[in-house]
Amino acid sequence: MMKEKLEEIRQKAVSEIENATDPEMLNSARVTFLGKKGELTAILKSMKEVAPEDRPKVGQWVNDTRKAIEEKLGAAKEKMELEQMKHRLANETIDVTLPAKKNKIGHRHPNTIALEEVEKIFVGMGFEVVEGPEIEKDYYNFEALNIPANHPAKDEQDTFYINKDILLRTQTSPVQVRTMEAKKPPIRMIAPGRVFRADEVDATHSPSFHQIEGMVIDKGITFSDLKGTLQMFVQKLFGKDTKVKFRPHHFPFTEPSAEMDVSCFKCGGKGCRFCKGEGWIEILGCGMVHPKVLKMSGIDPEEYSGFAFGIGLERIALLKYEIDDMRLLYENDDRFLSQF
Ligand SMILES: [Zn+2]
Repeated sequence: MMKEKLEEIRQKAVSEIENATDPEMLNSARVTFLGKKGELTAILKSMKEVAPEDRPKVGQWVNDTRKAIEEKLGAAKEKMELEQMKHRLANETIDVTLPAKKNKIGHRHPNTIALEEVEKIFVGMGFEVVEGPEIEKDYYNFEALNIPANHPAKDEQDTFYINKDILLRTQTSPVQVRTMEAKKPPIRMIAPGRVFRADEVDATHSPSFHQIEGMVIDKGITFSDLKGTLQMFVQKLFGKDTKVKFRPHHFPFTEPSAEMDVSCFKCGGKGCRFCKGEGWIEILGCGMVHPKVLKMSGIDPEEYSGFAFGIGLERIALLKYEIDDMRLLYENDDRFLSQF
């Protein structure tokens, strides 16, 4: 009687386990037959109704049944997990024949391209590239460059002051002074970098832009060295037919001073829209380093002389790539930048 009942439970359990299609169904079968309130437990609880001499035998049957159900459950669980794994492997297969995702690579900024080209030309002529701080002392930005305290460039409207003595450099020229202080002539250096001026943003102005400062100091340097060097520079930059023209100018830190124009590389000097009909394009400021500047930096103006120049990097980039609005260089619009 008891044995038949146990066999019945076993068969019911086996059939329920075999019909289970997911782990939850297996678990519910386990609870139904083996759980605390399950059918086998109920039978164990009714053992007191069994005659004492039959109890070991019945107990053995219950244990055998439990063991049979547990084994069946274990096997079913293992099989289910294996199938799930196979299913996952099949679905998560990577199709190596699919085309690869294209990585979007950025472009070099026209400013960077222009700077690298300028640096390459000067390094080829024996110049070294030096850097200086963007946050600068008033002394290096103005005083050591022979810019007197009452000079209009010192006006707070043009210069970003941090305090009375510290400012954001308005030019790369302070690097000249720092270089002269740090080393003995001969000096051949260019100093590219960012400069700051309190300008409103428009097509040709920005409160932050880039300059490339250049300086040569040695014995017997003359204005013809300046002319020859800068002529070679623009011929390498704009083409070998480029002509140069110097116009007298004034800078506090050079004497004499000049602005240099190049013949328009679009029309060859005939005059076009690009050069506004002039045939010439203004390109840089230059001059012979003022003896006072040499002296203040610890170089004897009786023994040494030199020339210096300052180029607007943006101006070079605008001219070279025929960009008509400086703001485009700062907006970082990918549609613009990707053209270079
Ligand atoms: Zn022209």
